[in-house]
Amino acid sequence: MTMTIKQAARSEVEGAADALVDLSHRIWDHPELAFEEERASAWSAEALADAGFSVETGVADLPTAFVAEAGSGPLVIGICAELDALPGIGHACGHNMIAAAGVGAGLALARVADDLGITVRVLGTPAEELGGGKILMVEQGVFDGIHLAMMVHPAPVEGDAFPTLAISQCDFHYHGKTAHASLAPNLGINAADAITVAQVGVGLLRQHLEVGDQVHGIVTRGGEAANIVPSSAASKPGPPQPGPASTSSRSVRRTPNSTTTTRSPTCTGPTRRRSVGRWAPGRRPRPHRPTWPISAC
Ligand SMILES: [Zn+2]
Repeated sequence: MTMTIKQAARSEVEGAADALVDLSHRIWDHPELAFEEERASAWSAEALADAGFSVETGVADLPTAFVAEAGSGPLVIGICAELDALPGIGHACGHNMIAAAGVGAGLALARVADDLGITVRVLGTPAEELGGGKILMVEQGVFDGIHLAMMVHPAPVEGDAFPTLAISQCDFHYHGKTAHASLAPNLGINAADAITVAQVGVGLLRQHLEVGDQVHGIVTRGGEAANIVPSSAASKPGPPQPGPASTSSRSVRRTPNSTTTTRSPTCTGPTRRRSVGRWAPGRRPRPHRPTWPISAC
């Protein structure tokens, strides 16, 4: 019986293989950034609608989010289909494949939904690179009633385990005092210097971070012109968020020097955490070890 259901699901995927690969390639060829995945969302939802799914678009007040449902069984299974690309480098993370695989899994499960007693919901989840679309959807109740949710993510290696990390995204703002960099540099307080000091500190701290803790970020504002001492600078995420606040005694000083002020970082919200995949090219995935949320900031 089980094999019959598996075979039915497999045959559904095999029958749709060309269309699924085409969907993946189309999304690859038209990369769209977070919250702008109009074509990827429409094409994915359309494929499911054509297969008989009832589709609701624009869920959670997100124009490119959708829920496509098939079956009526008591066990509700969610399949996530990510949609967005990265700025400048397109679908380097392979969300085109996640979308197509999500659609394919939905088609396969819909075929056997009555046999299994399940309802399958394919969730088009926008803004996974920048914005945490799934979090917004969770907050809006889109995942309510779903007993389990899953997705696949492509990687450059094959593995049966996929350790994940949580992430907090923060914006740090530094404030100094503007001055002409040539005529009166002594009157200025360089806010961008604070970022430099902070980045150096982060670099030195890395040696002592717990295994699994990561810090990475960019300078988002460093001044307007070379001949102006910048009074304002910003980085993302800036200084590190230490490991598990509840289990670690480590502390991090965040004040880079005494002349600039560091405004409290503005996070995208302490609940703005998403799982990000990690893999080690050429190696087998590491055995599971506890990971923890980077502390909220
Ligand atoms: Zn990704």
